[in-house]
Amino acid sequence: MPDIIGASLAGCAAALELLKQGHPVTLFEKSRFPRHKVCGEFLDPQVVRLLSGLQLEGTRITETALIWPKAEKRFALPEPALGISRYRLDQVLLEAALAGGASLIQDTGKVHAQAIVAHGRKPVSQRGQRLFGYKAHFSGPTNQAVELYFEGIGYTGVNPVEDGLTNVCGVAREEDLKAVGFDGDRWLARQPKLAARLDGRKREMEWLFTGPLFYGATEESLGYVCGDALSFVDPFTGSGMLCAIATGQLAARSVMEGLSPAEHLERCRKLLLPAFRWSSLMRRALAWSIVPRLAQLLPGPLLYRYSRPNPK
Ligand SMILES: Cc1cc2nc3c(=O)[nH]c(=O)nc-3n(C[C@H](O)[C@H](O)[C@H](O)COP(=O)(O)OP(=O)(O)OC[C@H]3O[C@@H](n4cnc5c(N)ncnc54)[C@H](O)[C@@H]3O)c2cc1C
Repeated sequence: MPDIIGASLAGCAAALELLKQGHPVTLFEKSRFPRHKVCGEFLDPQVVRLLSGLQLEGTRITETALIWPKAEKRFALPEPALGISRYRLDQVLLEAALAGGASLIQDTGKVHAQAIVAHGRKPVSQRGQRLFGYKAHFSGPTNQAVELYFEGIGYTGVNPVEDGLTNVCGVAREEDLKAVGFDGDRWLARQPKLAARLDGRKREMEWLFTGPLFYGATEESLGYVCGDALSFVDPFTGSGMLCAIATGQLAARSVMEGLSPAEHLERCRKLLLPAFRWSSLMRRALAWSIVPRLAQLLPGPLLYRYSRPNPK
């Protein structure tokens, strides 16, 4: 059976699928878990079904709010999602894989033609405008909503996770973050609605940053690629973890069914492309100034459904 490079969501989803069928698994992971990671920590409800049998304990999220400086749209989610930190989620998956018999090599793994490649986004050189992600947890009163505050081409998501914490995570232009010295507090203070939302909350960890973010398919050509190593979609839809887990499981099945890496890639494309196209269109539309006014007419739950894949 193949080595799995990366023991986060895609890697562990692949490992669990292989273990279920009795195959031995070796995971390579360069970081020590548990660890915090820049992520909105909004978990699509489909993941709970894909990982049935695992205890995923977080906070139910039942509502979405899209918030622009001068407009706002709220709607109920078609199905409750889960707010859960990556500190907890990644650890739960890794522990389940180890309990199921996986071996863990705590080191950098080498990508090769037979490997399951789940190493996440790789740095790419980018010219022009670059985007960075940021995140921190806050304590204080919580609610059951995922709230997206749009600011120019960036946005900040606010939603509850476990233990009474609220995750604040977003994407902004490098030059905007540079202007505040990559200080998350100063960046949020520049956005009046967001600053008001977080008033009275206390930041419980240092700000984490990641980037530059590159949206689109990566150029990894070896092995059974899955998760962000395969493709990274603008995270505003909150479906990246779903895609990682679904394609991790697909990678394992492709290996077990004897498919080639190219056939596996085609399988993933079929699953992901319609939702990716739709969400990149939506993302561009959300930055147009007319959209906040039109937003009142948009069927929120329908847009939500179209923006994510529907793995079986
Ligand atoms: C700002 C931001 C907000 C987001 N918000 C959300 C959200 O709210 N909801 C959502 O569903 N998704 C969100 N996402 C997307 C989500 O975080 C990713 O899609 C998800 O982490 C992908 O999982 P993965 O397992 O493919 O990769 P990763 O989680 O990146 O894991 C890759 C693992 O591989 C390890 N690794 C790397 N190279 C090697 C190597 N050579 N050898 C061994 N180990 C290696 C790394 O240490 C890491 O643990 C967000 C992303 C960003 C940037």
